[in-house]
Amino acid sequence: MQRFVNRAALVTGAGQGIGYAIAERFAAEGAHVILADIQESLLLKAEETLQASGYSVSHQVLDVSRPEQVDDVVGRIVAERGAIDILANNAGIAWEEPFVDIKDDNWRRMIDVNLNGMFYVAQRVSRHMKEQGGGSIINMSSTNGLAGEAKYAHYNASKGAIVLLTKTMAIELGAAGIRVNAVCPGYIQTPMSEAIDDPEFVSHYIEHYIPLRRVGKPQDISGVFAFLASDDAAFIHGECIVVDGGQLA
Ligand code: NAD
Repeated sequence: MQRFVNRAALVTGAGQGIGYAIAERFAAEGAHVILADIQESLLLKAEETLQASGYSVSHQVLDVSRPEQVDDVVGRIVAERGAIDILANNAGIAWEEPFVDIKDDNWRRMIDVNLNGMFYVAQRVSRHMKEQGGGSIINMSSTNGLAGEAKYAHYNASKGAIVLLTKTMAIELGAAGIRVNAVCPGYIQTPMSEAIDDPEFVSHYIEHYIPLRRVGKPQDISGVFAFLASDDAAFIHGECIVVDGGQLA
């Protein structure tokens, strides 16, 4: 399928994990993809790999929690490419910390990246999409945005907020032709999840919590991003799609 020919897609957190898979999928379907990430070394490697596959990609170093950097990067992309048609607002961080022990700085960093960062990027891109007559924005939430998980109060709070940010954006931006949705993945195997799990924990988790009896792959999520950005999803708006192998069921 080549659903995104002549479209420009900005993917944040594109250096690895789910963001990289989303970038690869959009590029494989014909989009020019702008990879954005805080880690330049990951960006250079991702760009090289995708270009070697013949895909059209470029990169921007970006810390989404710094609004002045978001202004610069979004302005630069629009100046260079003329438009941003698709935003995969994916960058995020996570770590375990019991509620009573969460340090104020850690709380602030989690909210700064996962909530404030997503707001800065979505708002700046929306302003351009309004001028250009529309677009598609997909925000990354989580099953942790719909149900709590112990030791993740800061992460859960940030992802829960993304659900209502998404719905409110949908209400305000729909008339401008900007479709806004969210994706709520369950357990997906990426560097983020590998950092916190040992094999015994993973097999116990799969057996007790995931009816499909496997963890997700980044490609299980990237296909849903591509669907939501495509014309097949033209009437899906303000929705949060759960992709979790049945865990929340
Ligand atoms: P990951 O850690 O493997 O990749 C995240 C990427 O985001 C990295 O390349 C990192 O450098 C980048 N990043 C971190 N902080 C940034 C910042 N301030 N500005 C720009 N880029 C930044 O994580 P992942 O598992 O691929 O997760 C991607 C998104 O999916 C996150 O929002 C995460 O919360 C969400 N998610 C992941 C899972 C899972 O099980 N892996 C489940 C639900 C939701």
